[in-house]
Amino acid sequence: LSLTDPVELHRICVCVRKRPLNKKEVTRKEIDVVTVPGKGVLLFHEPKQKVDLTKYLDNQLFHFDYSFDESSTNDLVYRFTAKPLVKTIFEGGRATCFAYGQTGSGKTHTMGGDFSGKAQDSSKGVYSLAAHDVFNLLQQRRYADMDLSPYVTFFEIYNGKVFDLLNKKTKLRVLEDEGQQVQVVGLQEVPVSSVDDVIRLIEKGSACRTSGQTFANTNSSRSHAVLQVILRHGKQLHGKFSLVDLAGNERGTDVSSNDRKTMVETAEINRSLLALKECIRSLGQNSEHIPFRMSKLTQVLRDSFIGENSRTCMVIGLGCYSPGPWEIAMISPGMNSCDYTLNTLRYADRYMRL
Ligand code: ADP
Ligand code: MG
Repeated sequence: LSLTDPVELHRICVCVRKRPLNKKEVTRKEIDVVTVPGKGVLLFHEPKQKVDLTKYLDNQLFHFDYSFDESSTNDLVYRFTAKPLVKTIFEGGRATCFAYGQTGSGKTHTMGGDFSGKAQDSSKGVYSLAAHDVFNLLQQRRYADMDLSPYVTFFEIYNGKVFDLLNKKTKLRVLEDEGQQVQVVGLQEVPVSSVDDVIRLIEKGSACRTSGQTFANTNSSRSHAVLQVILRHGKQLHGKFSLVDLAGNERGTDVSSNDRKTMVETAEINRSLLALKECIRSLGQNSEHIPFRMSKLTQVLRDSFIGENSRTCMVIGLGCYSPGPWEIAMISPGMNSCDYTLNTLRYADRYMRL
């Protein structure tokens, strides 16, 4: 995959990242339903069957700002998505980067890298790569004079409620003042003085995110995690970079579950992902009206959708396989990964037609 350096991005950048098939998927001979034939394009191969039962692939082409194939590293993805946004927060703006996709599509891999202790340098995610660049810029001459101090917040939104990951998962209230400024009351904003400081906080928060729960992974995939790097000049807010690992979108169209807890969760996730789409659309159209109250996620990120200097990028993760082998793919009941991938692409495609 050959890419030239990123050009000046527009306010919204949408790209897709295909993750490699894992060992299990290869062993099960699952069908790879996505290929990246060139820069910014993506081909989806949907297994279909004619009336006479002959099988064929229905190929559909999707366009994005960038498309990354399975050989892409976090470094490369970062360079074309979040990296160009770092400057924004030094200019007093709001930068936001979202990872969207079904559970297992690589959102956390992209954002957080691997914090399980097995991490190598190559697995650094957007969080630490961005932190690295923030500290680099802080030292640059033209920014050093601005007297900016960096802080970090890390919180989770589950079922429309906000929990502080840097403070024992304390449940926090969200308030809006007359000027529509949104405040998460009591959210810990921790001063940081090095990349290592940031990484320690991410580790602490990530551990908090999953500990003390029986179905740790299931739960964490049902919540949005928001890491913010904030620049202050004295007490005054200067710039804010929000990095969001979104809840899995896989139950988007699955109505087969009648477990009440799951249904409530699902409704809330759907609401927030829909709200997110509407808010980003408003940003793209410079619209006066931003429907940020549609969900807690968009409410706490209100800043991201307003202002002259707000920029957003979205990395769409693709868990790009279909239950195989071929014969099974054709008859597998209900939603499978292939359907979810198509769903994800359709959601993303709408961003591209703003
Ligand atoms: P999600 O957060 O979307 O649920 P994860 O990031 O946890 O997905 O990824 C699921 C699994 O796939 C993890 O074991 C992760 O290490 C692996 N994985 C994801 N993306 C990649 C990639 N680009 N390269 C290698 N492994 C990946
Ligand atoms: Mg995850």
